[in-house]
Formats: sequence, C-alpha cells, structure tokens
Amino acid sequence: MPPQDFIRRIIAEDLASGRHARVVTRFPPEPNGFLHIGHAKSICLNFGVAAENRGVCYLRYDDTNPVAEDQAYVDAIRRDVNWLGFNTPLITHASDYFPRLYGIAEHMIRSGRAFVDSSSAERISADRGTLTRPGRPSPFRDRSPAENLDLFQRMRGGEFADGEQVLRAKIDMASPNINLRDPVLYRVRHVQHPRTGRDWCIFPMYDFAHTLSDALEGITHSICTLEFEDHRPLYEWLLDHCGLELKTRPRQYEFGRLNLGHSVTSKRRVADLIRLKAVDGWDDPRLVTLSALRRRGYPPAILREFCVRAGVTRSEQMIGAEQLESVLREALNRDAPRAMAVARPLKIVLANLPSDHFEELPAANHPQRPEMGSRLVPFSREIHIESTDFMEDPPRRFRRLRPGGEVRLRNAYIIRCDEVVRDAAGELAELRCSVDPQSRSGGEGARRKVGGTIHWVSAKHSVPAELRLYRPLFNVERPDLDSGSPPLEEQVNAESLEVVPSARVEPSLASAGVGGTWQFERLGYFTPDSEDSSASGLVFNRIAPLRSSYSA
Ligand code: ATP
Ligand code: MG
Repeated sequence: MPPQDFIRRIIAEDLASGRHARVVTRFPPEPNGFLHIGHAKSICLNFGVAAENRGVCYLRYDDTNPVAEDQAYVDAIRRDVNWLGFNTPLITHASDYFPRLYGIAEHMIRSGRAFVDSSSAERISADRGTLTRPGRPSPFRDRSPAENLDLFQRMRGGEFADGEQVLRAKIDMASPNINLRDPVLYRVRHVQHPRTGRDWCIFPMYDFAHTLSDALEGITHSICTLEFEDHRPLYEWLLDHCGLELKTRPRQYEFGRLNLGHSVTSKRRVADLIRLKAVDGWDDPRLVTLSALRRRGYPPAILREFCVRAGVTRSEQMIGAEQLESVLREALNRDAPRAMAVARPLKIVLANLPSDHFEELPAANHPQRPEMGSRLVPFSREIHIESTDFMEDPPRRFRRLRPGGEVRLRNAYIIRCDEVVRDAAGELAELRCSVDPQSRSGGEGARRKVGGTIHWVSAKHSVPAELRLYRPLFNVERPDLDSGSPPLEEQVNAESLEVVPSARVEPSLASAGVGGTWQFERLGYFTPDSEDSSASGLVFNRIAPLRSSYSA
C-alpha cells in the first residue's frame, strides 16, 4: 500500500461520502518534449490513485499549441508512461475536443460570458494591470452577443490574421486574481496542427481547453502542480459557465513539483541543453528524462519507489540526486548479479603456470544470495588486473599489489609480484607474478590472509568492452539557466562523461542483453547501452558507482 498523502485522503473521503462512485484522473502532458523524473511523480500519482481505487486514468495529450508539438514526442511520452509500469487504455488528445470546445465557446458568447476583442496583443497585455493595479476593460467588452458570434465565426473561418482578434471570457477586470481579468480563451493561428492539420485556424488556450477536457472526460480529481493554484478560480468559473450538464464536477488539487538536484527537470531547459550541445539528445544518460534514465540503466521499479519515498506534498520539493542514486544502489546491491570487469587493464603473466594452463573457477553470482547460483570464470596463465591496483612505490597503507607483495585474486588464488617488466621506452609493460597453488578460494588454503583482494579477468578469455562512466551533469546543485545567470559552461560539469575505451569483461558478459544489470565488482553497477552496445562491440553504461557520485 502506498502511504496516505493528502490527495489519497481526499479521494478516500470522496468515495466514502458517495461524492464520486469512481475515480477518474488524467495525466495531461504537452507533447513538446520528453517526460522527465518530475513527470514520473505526476504519472505515479495519477495512474496510481486510479489503479488503487479501481478507477481509470486518461493519458491526455494537451496538444493545443501546435508549433511546439511533434509526433516523436507523442510516441516517446506513451512509451515512457508504459515503461514506467502503467497501461494506457484511454489515450485522448485535447484536439479531439476542438469541435466541442468551439461549441462551448459559442454558448458562452450567446450567454454573454465571452466576447471578441479586436485589440492588439500589446494593448491587451498593457490593460491587464498588475498585482497592485486593477486592469482596464477592453473597449470591445460590450459588443453584443450577435456581433461577437459573427466575429468568432469569422475567426474560425479564417478571415483574420494571427493576433488580429481573440476571444476572451468576460469576468472581472478588477479581480485581485489576474487570471480572472477577462482571460483569453481562443486565438488565431494559421499553422498546421499535427493531428487536425489545417482544419482549425483558431486554437483554445490552456485553461479553457484543459478545464473543459476534464469536464468532457468526467475527470473527478484533476491533479496538477502548485503553479496552477491561482488558476483554480478560473477553472471553477469555466465549469460554472460552460453550459455543460456536468454529471461529475471535476475538482482541481495542487501538489508540489519535484525537482532533482544537479539536474534540470523542465522540457524547455533540456531542449536548451541539447541545442547548446551540453548533451547528445533527449536520451543522453546524463539527463533525468525517463528515456535517459532507462538508457542509463534505471529499472522502472526504482523510479516508482523513488516517487513513493518523495511523497506527495503541498510544497515544492528539491530532492538531492544522491537520494535517487541511493534507491538504485539499495535495489541493485540486493538484485544485481556480480561480474568481473577490468576498466584499465594491466597484464600479468603468472610465470609458474604452464603456458596452456586453463581452469574454470566457481564464482558466486551474489555473495549474500546463494539462490542466485554461481558461474565458472576461466583462469589462465595471462590475466588482466586494474592498473590502479598496482603501484611500484605505494604508500604504506596500500593494500593492493606492489613489487614483492601479495594480493588475492577474487574467486581465485593469491599471487606474488616477482618482476616489473618495462618496454623499450621504460614504461611499465606487464608484471610477472607467481601463483600460490595452495591458496585457491573455497579450498583448504583459502584461509591464508593477505592484505587485499582485487578483481581480474583472463587475458585470452575476456572480451573487450567500452565503459561509459557518468558523473553529475552540473557542478551546482541548483543549475540556473535563466538569462543573466552564470554561463552554462561554468555550471555544466566538463567531466560528466568519461569514456573508458579498452576495458575487458569476463566472457559471461559477452551475451549481456539490454535491460540486464550487473555489479562489476569494485567498479559499480552497469548495463549495456541500448543504442550502442552490440555482440560485436559491447558498451556498458555505469548506472551508478558503488559509493555516492555526489559526496562533497
Ligand atoms: P515542463 O516544464 O517540464 O515542460 P510542464 O509542467 O510544462 O513541465 P506538462 O507536459 O504540462 O509539463 O506536464 C504534464 C503534467 O506533469 C502536469 O500535470 C504537470 O503539472 C506535471 N509535472 C510537470 N513537471 C513536474 C514536476 N517537476 N513534478 C511534478 N509534476 C510535474
Ligand atoms: Mg510546459
């Protein structure tokens, strides 16, 4: 059971009191970009409360602004909602309702609740007033319904250019709530709409389309974010005056947006980052769009769990990115099988083994979960270790390999470094070591203790792979991309992506499929990149390191 938040409490009361027989919600994205982690919260809430109460949730595309919208976004939104774990049997578009919205507008004109304003956009905006100064009524406010109807029909007929006329509600130019100062309901736009083509050259404004789509769909609980709080009186006014027979009257409830530290959660901001080439696209794994998180390797259950933990509150949330990472780490530490991979290989020749030495050593897939079984890892005379696990002249407390020192190879034997081999240029080329044959892990001699244990792969049997290591995209917890803010390059972390081109991974990973997650021992959690990884060229994304990426 999800915890009770104020919205779930209201819904429970409404069902108990009989105010509603069934819960109907909607998630209404504008298809002008990809969904992000903030949307996940709204999706989990809207689809979640519907499912918990045997109700329904619409996925409604708010496609009333044709210029920003794109079919690619429409497709991505649906895929992301489904991926997050929610079925979408009810998909609608605000544009489905254009004919009915037009009819409602005509009704409001006839009843004297709306008028056509022929003022310029500048004039309308100047006359709107401010928080401290009331607005000024339009000189066209008192046109007769007949004249308004004629003008509105001609707007629809294409007689006017963009901006020449608008339809406005007739409410109250002196209202302390600016949203009630005769808000614009329809504007002229001679553009192609992705769904309705050229059928319409007038488009409803957000508040009008949104409120009445809720009414037409029989939405019971219209859940939105806090910035719409002072639109609620307009929402109510439109329901009162739309002339629809409302079997269920929707109510609007606002909750606080979710913002994640060190990232941006706004489609417009993400679009800016793409345009400025700070990232490669909407699914760049450094972003927090749902497509990016999926590609990065975040299982959807982790995002749902993160949203549950974030809770639903009446105030805006700023959650540290480390919290998302820690939900991930907790789950993958529990669930991800272990594997060995060497990011920057250093070759070791085990000189006391015959050149054709080959054995397969059992390795547990999870140290705490024997039910996850084990695999056999090939071991031979030449292996690779992590180059950072050897130091020629280490500090005293260095617990890995040093000349003359010993270390345990994970799941294998203790080795001793006998000789450092250099190339012609004097650079470290390889190490010659010897194996203690009595020290095999799991065997009798396994009890002999040495300073450290390191990971390794067999040189001949391992496969090449590229690793992509991600760090926070922003240096600052709260990036500020507004004009007048520090230049983007000062806020973006230049080291947010590190490509490790020549890693070696154990052979069991050769067939690693997209969606699989592993803990590469000592390196972090990894998944094959869905775009770039293939059997002939493995590419792994690091989902998260073993310790926080965000520690100071
Ligand atoms: P953006 O600024 O990213 O474009 P938006 O609010 O304009 O966001 P919409 O497509 O209109 O995006 O959002 C669809 C729904 O998702 C709305 O109900 C909106 O309130 C909700 N939503 C958007 N961003 C967040 C967020 N950060 N946290 C919670 N809910 C959000
Ligand atoms: Mg928006």
